[in-house]
Amino acid sequence: MLEIKNLCAAVENKEILKGVNLNVKQGEVHAIMGRNGSGKSTLANLIAGKNNYSVTSGEVYYKGKNIADISPEDRALNGIFLSFQYPVVIPGVNTTYFLKEALNAKRRNREKDEINAADFMRLIKEKLKEVDLDETYLKRSVNDGFSGGEKKRNEILQMLILEPELAILDETDSGLDIDALKTIAHGINQYRREDRAIILITHYQRLLKYAVPDYVHVLMNGRIVKSGGKELALELEEKGYSWLE
Ligand code: ADP
Ligand code: MG
Repeated sequence: MLEIKNLCAAVENKEILKGVNLNVKQGEVHAIMGRNGSGKSTLANLIAGKNNYSVTSGEVYYKGKNIADISPEDRALNGIFLSFQYPVVIPGVNTTYFLKEALNAKRRNREKDEINAADFMRLIKEKLKEVDLDETYLKRSVNDGFSGGEKKRNEILQMLILEPELAILDETDSGLDIDALKTIAHGINQYRREDRAIILITHYQRLLKYAVPDYVHVLMNGRIVKSGGKELALELEEKGYSWLE
């Protein structure tokens, strides 16, 4: 699904990623952990195609194809999804229309018929329940006035509607109370499937208790310095990150 080879990237002449290697296969859930500032969001943004970084060396392959020249829109159409660490507010853009149009863009890309309004409403009502949001959110502008937790649920809602093959969730757990955390974990677990892959970015172990990853990687100073199974997250919880330096 995703192969990252020796990825080095800089922003404003500051080197952030210094040779990241990562292999994610279909059906797998990988967690990427690390301190603030270690480059986790940079890595996520680079996979999604944000273009204010300069890639100095290395490659990113998605389904076997080097995606260096593919736009963020085309990456999204082809199944890559990024849940933002800081979801963007879009005043004046209604949540329902936004989601419906995004879904239809993907359907057009696959040469499928657009979903009609009635079917879409049925779909979205079902997915809203999974993230524990009520229907009043649909009438509001995207993330406008949403609390931190509601924005994160709305990111998961987008994932459930768009059905990406590779979902990258950047600190979708940060700032959530325990109930919201469990809701998010439930959404992630519902989403897991043999033909999909998920990358969970977090610096806490607590999400990983409910959404258990197959692999855990530690990003430090722009490199993956340690990889292991789910027990590595527990070890980090106990010992912190400094022993890896
Ligand atoms: P993390 O998500 O692990 O907290 P980030 O990828 O957000 O880390 O950031 C890694 C480093 O890159 C930080 O030191 C951050 O300040 C720096 N950085 C990210 N974006 C920019 C930018 N646009 N300009 C300058 N520095 C940046
Ligand atoms: Mg970050």
